[in-house]
Amino acid sequence: MGKEAERWWSKGTVAVVTGANKGLGFGIVRQLAKEGITVVLTARDATRGNVALESLKSQGLHNVNFHPLDVASQESILALAEWLHKTYGGIDILINNAGIANPDNDVTLETVKPALDTNYFGVKNVTKALIPLLRDDTPGGARVIVVASIMGQLKHLVNKDYVKTLSDREHITEDFVDSFVNHYLKDVVDGSEKEGGCPNWTDWVNSPFGRALESYSVSKVAVIAYVSALHNTLVAQPGSGKKINVFSCCPGFVATDINNNMGTKTVEEGADTPVWLALHSPEE
Ligand code: NDP
Repeated sequence: MGKEAERWWSKGTVAVVTGANKGLGFGIVRQLAKEGITVVLTARDATRGNVALESLKSQGLHNVNFHPLDVASQESILALAEWLHKTYGGIDILINNAGIANPDNDVTLETVKPALDTNYFGVKNVTKALIPLLRDDTPGGARVIVVASIMGQLKHLVNKDYVKTLSDREHITEDFVDSFVNHYLKDVVDGSEKEGGCPNWTDWVNSPFGRALESYSVSKVAVIAYVSALHNTLVAQPGSGKKINVFSCCPGFVATDINNNMGTKTVEEGADTPVWLALHSPEE
């Protein structure tokens, strides 16, 4: 995995992980906490979040704190940002992990929107709200990591114009990624109004899973492109005094609830990649 960075982190380093009450998010929190970092475990359900927190404490990990976060709610995002500011002053690492898949072959705005709202707009809105809190003096720069997926590979997109534009990583903009997502949502609405559902679905994703994971794929294509767009925006604003490294990654096929525990990797193995990016990644 390349040359390991020096151990730059300490108890004063603060990491925030979304969707961390179970699965990969929980594994990521545990690995970061074992490194001695202060970790904020967030979850949309306070009971589930606190149960996860207690479980980590019972394993001797007392450097973990909990705060609620529903990434699909702007109110919840702003409440977290305010609490982080009051409690820590700033943060060093943000890991956007929360995600959902729509296993439904019935593609309507109602069934696909949660995946887009969580996996794309949720990541964007959380990142936008927390960027001002990323510290100027994190050694090597602050880190923003997005847990994406190979389901977001451009090879799954049928529209070759989008493949071409989204492949041009250096010129991707947030507005373009928004327009891509909004185009998809409009097609879902238009298509589901047609008799027999949305007949032109292969215009979007060509996947062995059929339409069931279409919105998941589109959301992951979009969020990977967003990471490039964010990188481009940050690079275009040199001299802001803040260095931020942004990465997306796939954890591999990990046995969690999102795939009914069919994955072949353990949570510990899957969490390893985002944790490595957070701690050891080379500076961009
Ligand atoms: P899980 O279903 O085990 O965990 C998903 C987590 O996201 C849960 O904590 C869930 O909370 C949370 N979540 C969902 N919606 C929201 C929301 N609106 N706000 C806050 N939290 C939310 O799945 P994984 O651990 O596998 O998934 C983690 C990430 O990894 C996802 O982004 C997924 O796409 C990605 N991934 C997973 C792969 C795998 O093989 N497992 C492969 C590639 C990528 P709750 O318990 O309340 O539902």
